[in-house]
Amino acid sequence: MSAIQKIRGTRDILPEEIGYWQQLEATVAEILHRAAYQEIRSPIFEQTSLFKRGIGEATDVVGKEMYTFDDRGNRSLTLRPEGTAGVARAYIENNLHSLGNVQRLWYIGPMFRYERPQEGRQRQFHQIGLELFGTRDPRADVEVISLATEILQALGLKSLSLQLNSVGSGEDRQNYREALVNYLNPYKDDLDADSQERLTRNPLRILDSKDEKTQEIAQNAPKILDSLNPDSRKHFEKVCLLLDDLDIKYEINHCLVRGLDYYSHTAFEIQSQDLGAQATVCGGGRYDGLVKLLGGPDTPAIGWAMGMERLILLLQKLQTTSGLKPDLYLVSKGEKAEVQSVILAHKLRHIGLKVELDLSGSAFGKQFKRADRSGATACVILGDAEVSNQTVQLKWMESQEQEEISIDVLLSKIKELLLKHK
Ligand code: ATP
Ligand code: MG
Repeated sequence: MSAIQKIRGTRDILPEEIGYWQQLEATVAEILHRAAYQEIRSPIFEQTSLFKRGIGEATDVVGKEMYTFDDRGNRSLTLRPEGTAGVARAYIENNLHSLGNVQRLWYIGPMFRYERPQEGRQRQFHQIGLELFGTRDPRADVEVISLATEILQALGLKSLSLQLNSVGSGEDRQNYREALVNYLNPYKDDLDADSQERLTRNPLRILDSKDEKTQEIAQNAPKILDSLNPDSRKHFEKVCLLLDDLDIKYEINHCLVRGLDYYSHTAFEIQSQDLGAQATVCGGGRYDGLVKLLGGPDTPAIGWAMGMERLILLLQKLQTTSGLKPDLYLVSKGEKAEVQSVILAHKLRHIGLKVELDLSGSAFGKQFKRADRSGATACVILGDAEVSNQTVQLKWMESQEQEEISIDVLLSKIKELLLKHK
């Protein structure tokens, strides 16, 4: 019988890679908790209408990429393609706004989009995201942007660029839309097919088309920043000034837009120069109209989401994680020594060390080879002679030096000795 394979566009995250995931998760949790963000876990599937309303039918995500199916009760359900709609629904449904004006939430988990799989693009992928509900203050925009840059910095990632723009208010966009369509109309035949269609439905989205010719035309289009009213402009200027104060570098990208009506003001993306075509690691912005659109109270909000697979690709290039290499690898031979090795491994773990116990029962030579492969700092050797002396042989893997020490000394001194040898 042929073996069953995983679904196209999904991946097994194997133990050899898991250290990077754990490093990423721990870094994010620590930084966000320090800024008073709380984790929220919402369901992986929701009513299809939530995403149609909350992301918008005109988007690629809803139009082309959703995993939608009818369940046995004939309800249309969708595997979440992103996190914001579900978190906003949970915020409304659980009356989180009653807990205080400002709510700071973050999430982590799998998302699903029917896309063409390639490096950095999958059908099941993972995002970390945060949402800050309840304030229009430009300091909130800067808080969420600075948290994204802090996370990337703490991970040691370099060659990143923060792109920034403002899409203003609904009225600003209405004005801009006209100016943009007037500019684009004469070029209609030169635009890619999708963009031609968007010219009437959703012209702002033409600006972030990936087609080269369209991009060239978009470069000289009127700029949305020039259509902002004084209040919108002031909001954007405050964001820029605060970023300057924090010494966070950014580039203004006039083509960075969000095409949907509930988006407003700040839009941003963080891109990496080390990722090829799938360069965006973080995307975010203000969505002051979303909560109301989903049936909640009028609540401004801002958030971002990071693609974890793309961050892992960058971390792997850096090779910064120590992975799960043990401090000690325990080998033993002989009935009593084998029993003693279990007890000793238990005690060593109890004092906080990472210990791998060889369970093979094979000859010492083979066990030493495995000790070598494990990447352990030292090997602890127990034979019958050591058991009767209440000692072990301690072998440092790099220098191959070996010494006999008593079990008591091992337990009291090993942490200190390991520090010296690392
Ligand atoms: P892209 O332009 O790469 O398709 P997007 O605009 O669809 O991105 P968002 O919806 O803003 O992306 O999602 C935020 C982040 O999630 C992206 O910047 C990216 O890092 C990641 N991401 C999105 N789709 C995928 C996918 N199919 N596979 C892996 N990561 C993804
Ligand atoms: Mg996409």
